[in-house]
Formats: sequence, C-alpha cells, structure tokens
Amino acid sequence: MLELPLRHHVPLAPYTTFHIGGPADYLLEVTSQEQLRQSLRWAEEKGIPWLILGGGSNVLISDRGIRGLVIINRSQGWQKVALDDFSRPTASIASRWQSTFPLEPPARGKKVAIKVNTGTSLKALLFELAAAQITGLEWFVGIPGTVGGAIKNNIHGGPEFFSNFLLAATIWRQGREERYLPQAEDFDYDFSPFDSQTVLLEATLLLFEAKDNRGPLFLREWGKTKLQNQPQNSAGCVFQNLSIKEQRQLGLPSPSWGYIIDKILHLKGRQIGGAQISLQHAAFIINADGQARAKDVLALINLIKEKSQQVLGIEPRLEIQLLGFDEK
Ligand SMILES: Cc1cc2nc3c(=O)[nH]c(=O)nc-3n(C[C@H](O)[C@H](O)[C@H](O)COP(=O)(O)OP(=O)(O)OC[C@H]3O[C@@H](n4cnc5c(N)ncnc54)[C@H](O)[C@@H]3O)c2cc1C
Repeated sequence: MLELPLRHHVPLAPYTTFHIGGPADYLLEVTSQEQLRQSLRWAEEKGIPWLILGGGSNVLISDRGIRGLVIINRSQGWQKVALDDFSRPTASIASRWQSTFPLEPPARGKKVAIKVNTGTSLKALLFELAAAQITGLEWFVGIPGTVGGAIKNNIHGGPEFFSNFLLAATIWRQGREERYLPQAEDFDYDFSPFDSQTVLLEATLLLFEAKDNRGPLFLREWGKTKLQNQPQNSAGCVFQNLSIKEQRQLGLPSPSWGYIIDKILHLKGRQIGGAQISLQHAAFIINADGQARAKDVLALINLIKEKSQQVLGIEPRLEIQLLGFDEK
C-alpha cells in the first residue's frame, strides 16, 4: 500500500531548472530510501509507467508532459563507511576540457569511502565534504542536480568524470534491488550503463582525506567562474562537446558547441518564442522570459542542427535529455 501523498496532474516546470514542461499524470516526492523503494514497488505492482527525476537540471520535458508517474528523488544524506577491499577498475575517459583555471583542489591524502543517498544535492554534498576535510569532487561545483543524476549522466567537471569516484551502487532493476560494481568499459563521456528503468538508490564513492585547506577556496572560486559563464535558467550545455578526433577533422580551435554556435554558425542570441540561444554562453539555450515552451527550445535545437549540417556537415549530439516527446 502507498503511504505517500499521490498528486495528480502536476505541472513539471517547477521541478526543472529550465522551468519548462507540462504535467505528470501522477507525482510522488520522496525524501527517504524507504519512500523511494515504496514508490517503485507501488508503480510496478499497479503497472503504471514511471520515471525518476533528481534536480531536473538536464532534461527538456515536453509541453504535453509525462504520462504515468514521476518520482522526484529527494532522499538525502551521506556517511563515511569502511573502505572494504573494493577493487576499482581504472578506465580513463579522455577529457574534452581545456584548462585555464589557475587553482587546484586540495592535495589527496589517505583514501576514504562514503555512502550517499542518490537524492542528495551535489552542491550540498560538496560543501559538507569540504567542511569534513574530504576531497575529490571539487571540480563538480556549480553543477546543479543530485548524485543520482550525476552518476546516470556521468557528469564532467574540469578534468574529472563522476565515474572516476564510483566504487559501487545499490540499484533497482526489474522490480528488485541489486549491487552494482563498475566495470572498466561501463562509462564514457555523458554515458553510463543505466537505462531509464534502472534507479540508482545509493552509491559508494571513493574520495580522499584533504592534505590542506584549499577546498572551500577552490569551491568558491571555481563555483564563481561557472556561475559567470553558465546561465542557470537552462538545462546545461545542449550538445556534447566534440571529441578530439572530430575537432581535428574539422580543423576547429575549440571542441565546444558554444564556440561553434557563436563563431561559425552565428546563431548566438537567436530567439524563438520565449527560448533563446544564450548571449552568455552559446552552448546553452535559456528560458529567456520565464514563459518559454518546450516547442520553442526544440525549434532552436533543430535550427542549430540544420545549420550545422549545412555549414560543417555534422549534426551535434544532444547532451540534454528530451522527455515526453514522440519525435527525437
Ligand atoms: C547551469 C547548469 C550547468 C551545468 N553544468 C554541467 C557541467 O558542467 N557538466 C555536466 O556534466 N553537466 C552539467 N549540467 C547538467 C546537469 O546539471 C547534470 O547532468 C546533472 O547531474 C543532472 O542531475 P539531476 O539530478 O538534475 O538529473 P535530472 O535532470 O533530474 O535527470 C537526468 C537523467 O538522470 C536520470 N536520473 C536522475 N536521478 C536518477 C537516479 N537516482 N537513478 C537513475 N536515474 C536517475 C533521469 O531519469 C534522467 O534520465 C549543468 C546544468 C545546468 C542547468
């Protein structure tokens, strides 16, 4: 039996950083692991299609919204755990980031493991870890969303990918819980092995004791840089940066779609309805007037794809996820 308030026909825009999206048929906001498990069991027993969201910071939800149940994961909290004899595969993913930032996160001391509920806000986690003199995740400051979304999308911050820190996870798949241990080939740029019907419940991360006090300063300064360059009323970069190979083939000085959209396609600032290609960073589309519709954003995405095909002969790959659309 469901012991949580089930809401009907709930607009999803407030649950996204874009502030765009039609209603969910049903919505449950869960604040604990038990509630998260209960929601999944309930939806599966009733045969209701479901979708999980964390901070809604990487999604464009259609104006028609989502059929079925949307679960908003706010199951927060973390603790230090014993660093058992986890053996961790060391797959290295090529970074597509070009560094100009002068500061470094703290030097790494002894290994530490933490267990974290996946609804934990990444921002809260980073500042709490810095206060506890634990280092590792600082490059991810300024990225909104939850730990679950960070693992699912294998987010990239500075030179790091989130999978560099994942030791293990408890996942929900096909109606039951499983222990997941990462394999070397499981993760790539913006890629994890988890499909839309797998839920990350909790994760164990490998971090380090900080050998100096640079953590809070680094978080503040790198966070400030991100805030200056990245518009918040968005869903992050719309397209994945080019791989080094693609960049070389096209003879471009930058792998960033911000550069391409601005300097090559000359679409920076273009507006359709309430959506605009950001003047601050052209790889971002923003909800300029707070009233943008998903169809406006989609029209801008299609415009960029078409112009890129005409001018460069390539189509950019989406980094944001489209939810509730029939078309791709
Ligand atoms: C201003 C801004 C800056 C950004 N900067 C960056 C950046 O520098 N680097 C970067 O990589 N990204 C960046 N992003 C994108 C985004 O913040 C990240 O992808 C983030 O990790 C998404 O987390 P979320 O909780 O908001 O996920 P959501 O947007 O809620 O969901 C994204 C996907 O993850 C799935 N998901 C969420 N939680 C779970 C879970 N517990 N188990 C299984 N699946 C789950 C959802 O179903 C969905 O498919 C930025 C976004 C914004 C708005």
